[in-house]
Amino acid sequence: MALRTVRKFGDEILEKKANPVRDNSKRIQDLIDDMFETMYDADGVGLAAPQVGILKRIVVIDVSEKRDTPLVLINPEVISTEGEQTGPEGCLSYPGKSGIVKRPAKVKFTAYDRDFKKYDMEAEGLLARAVMHETDHLEGHVYTEKVIGKVYDSGDEEAEHEAEIVAGMIPPDEENEDSDGKKGRKRR
Ligand SMILES: [Zn+2]
Repeated sequence: MALRTVRKFGDEILEKKANPVRDNSKRIQDLIDDMFETMYDADGVGLAAPQVGILKRIVVIDVSEKRDTPLVLINPEVISTEGEQTGPEGCLSYPGKSGIVKRPAKVKFTAYDRDFKKYDMEAEGLLARAVMHETDHLEGHVYTEKVIGKVYDSGDEEAEHEAEIVAGMIPPDEENEDSDGKKGRKRR
């Protein structure tokens, strides 16, 4: 296993459509191993092959707290989506940045696992968000295209607060709001 270089904002490979994987090989297995290693090393919840410079329809995800629930999506297809969730999102190709993005609350998809067995899954919450974010990468799309308001520096609470107001997640500041007023804000 080896760490791969994550392509960053401005790299045109991030705007290209990835190709379906036709068959399994040691190369594909090595790529998947490397993608997980790279994703865990960068403390990310998902990574798509184009982000490491490979235009193949492969995604790895792990949204678990313990980082012990790896999920492989080869040639994923979104079947249907339901509802809506609005929240902060980041991307390993845009280190240190975040933005508020609207995603479906639930997504049904099919994909092949790393043994090339087809499966279908219904995801919700953060997993649904990750699936939508990563499958966008396979189409050459990045989350910043969908950001409501501004992309801000991760950890810049003021900017995040502003973005949440723009996104309608929280009401505009009231005059005497103190830090308690921001208590309900979610961190990821
Ligand atoms: Zn991303």
